[in-house]
Amino acid sequence: MLIVHKYGGTSVGNLERIENVASRVAKAKREGNDLVVVVSAMSGETNKLISYAEHFSAIPSKREMDMLLSSGERVTASLLAIALQSMGIDAIAMSGRQAGIKTNDNHTYARIESIDPTAMQNEIAKGKVVVVAGFQGITEEGNATTLGRGGSDLSAVAIAGALNADACEIYSDVDGIYTTDPRIEPKAKKMDFISYDEMLELASLGAKVLQNRSVELAKKLNVKIIAKSSFSDAEGTVIGEESKDMEAVLVSGIALDRNQARVTIRDVVDRPGVAAEIFTKLADEHINVDMIIQNASVDHGTTNLGFTLAQSDINRAKAVIEGFDHDIGSMDFDDSVCKVSVVGVGMKSHAGVAATAFKAMAKENINIEMISTSEIKVSMIIAEKYAELAVRTLHSTYGLDK
Ligand code: ADP
Ligand code: ASP
Ligand code: MG
Repeated sequence: MLIVHKYGGTSVGNLERIENVASRVAKAKREGNDLVVVVSAMSGETNKLISYAEHFSAIPSKREMDMLLSSGERVTASLLAIALQSMGIDAIAMSGRQAGIKTNDNHTYARIESIDPTAMQNEIAKGKVVVVAGFQGITEEGNATTLGRGGSDLSAVAIAGALNADACEIYSDVDGIYTTDPRIEPKAKKMDFISYDEMLELASLGAKVLQNRSVELAKKLNVKIIAKSSFSDAEGTVIGEESKDMEAVLVSGIALDRNQARVTIRDVVDRPGVAAEIFTKLADEHINVDMIIQNASVDHGTTNLGFTLAQSDINRAKAVIEGFDHDIGSMDFDDSVCKVSVVGVGMKSHAGVAATAFKAMAKENINIEMISTSEIKVSMIIAEKYAELAVRTLHSTYGLDK
């Protein structure tokens, strides 16, 4: 079997843990498998590098950020290969470039355009374990890129797809996908299986156990993901295609996204095209805007415009809006909000899921500031201080702890 393993930041967080990973990889190799191992930077390392850059600039240049951030994964890939060699396992470390991962030039959030697997295949054919630095690739012009936070998951899935691997095992500090973050709700239940669509929704709404783009790509390439723990031998959760005879559960999980901020722009001149102009400028900077609320125009022909975005985009959003010197009054940014979401494919055919969520929030006196719904989710923006209470309340309201 050809298997891709991916070990996240906590799993390679110190030298002892890298040794633990090396032992696990060595065992899988000795059992006769061909292996490609994708690694993240040591936990905390990427954040540390970002804070170093922000010491010098609130909006550091993205090309240089990629040079900087891609270094973290090279450290762990090299150390893991050395650890494996010391155990008598033939291993070779590769950067994203050496592994043939080509991306576009959207720095810090680059998209993988193609993978040339030849170099990896040649090393596998020599019997080596190939250790690849996750989260990174290279542009046509030869610049280093990174794939967005949590992007090593995407590297692993893309490599599994390119090599036509039998499975892509993603190892972290939890032994699978739970009905909600088990750190917030200890009563959360581990699932044996979750469909790509439900996992994609959970991941997009903040369940960082898998990066959302990696799930999207796994679905597209039909790569089977198994989420497992690097600290135990528990079974894990399979993420795959939903089979026809499976009964769709009403609600499969609750997600929390703390990386949220709300922007309010007051006294926006109420004429066609102003909102379009603001959102186009944000989009040009690759800033994703999520929920939008525009108040009805009251008097003197102005309205208020509210929207949410990722907290990590706030400095760049400020720069864009400050550069917008006509047709708007004041603006303010509130980063003390979070988003809680209820996810389930069964909602498609059931009414009342949203009403139940709103009632549960009301009972706990939690004010809902914004709402958005789709066929398979209900999301609410609330004050961040209620984040954990809201998650636990929703989790029990839908009977997920049973
Ligand atoms: P890694 O650093 O290995 O990539 P992450 O920290 O990105 O790992 O993801 C693992 C974490 O995801 C867990 O520690 C857990 O707190 C969190 N998490 C959030 N939602 C869920 C969920 N539904 N099931 C399991 N873990 C979850
Ligand atoms: N090190 C990167 C991050 O912290 C990528 C990853 O861990 O997947 O986002
Ligand atoms: Mg992760």
